[in-house]
Amino acid sequence: MFNLILFGPPGSGKGTQSDSLVEKYGLIHLSTGNLLREEISQKTPLGIEAKGFMDNGQLVPDEVVIGMVDSYFDKHSEAKGFLFDGFPRTVAQAEALDKLLDLKKTEIAAVLALEVSEEELVKRLLNRGKTSGRSDDTNEEVIRKRFAVYSNETKPVAQHYKKAHKFHPIKGEGTVDEIFKSICKEIDKKIV
Ligand code: ADP
Repeated sequence: MFNLILFGPPGSGKGTQSDSLVEKYGLIHLSTGNLLREEISQKTPLGIEAKGFMDNGQLVPDEVVIGMVDSYFDKHSEAKGFLFDGFPRTVAQAEALDKLLDLKKTEIAAVLALEVSEEELVKRLLNRGKTSGRSDDTNEEVIRKRFAVYSNETKPVAQHYKKAHKFHPIKGEGTVDEIFKSICKEIDKKIV
């Protein structure tokens, strides 16, 4: 298996780049944000629990997200590999992912981290909010809250992968195509 993590703050372009990456490398896209929004739209108990956290810009509890990833992983046991998007978002999630992959006798090949200035991120998110119908993108206060959560809880995940020499920063500003090429360049170094 060949597994990648696309890492970066809200609005850094993970969703946009994921679509092209899964196609090019034949991976299964595992976006915890998308999975949670799907649960919300189906009004499942998990979705109902998650909605309150998401609308406030808070993280959904680790055990909920980890359980969801676990079952998605089992549903796609034939996958060539996964592209994790928006996960892991806490050190506890990263540790749980290590264990899960270890059980499946596989690992993370690389973490690709999109770097974008906060000013540009707010602009992109407010813009996305106009068309996406995502309530967490329309309110600047909720957006700022998500950045604070990112700083406090998600940034330490970078250190987890730096220690393992798997962390690769990528300039996340420029055209979608330029950024895609930079990501592919890093990935291709890992494919022998
Ligand atoms: P973005 O990164 O643009 O904020 P996502 O779609 O990845 O968008 O996530 C939206 C919301 O879903 C987050 O603000 C959070 O509440 C919740 N969420 C997504 N992934 C996770 C995760 N791995 N752990 C906890 N909460 C998550």
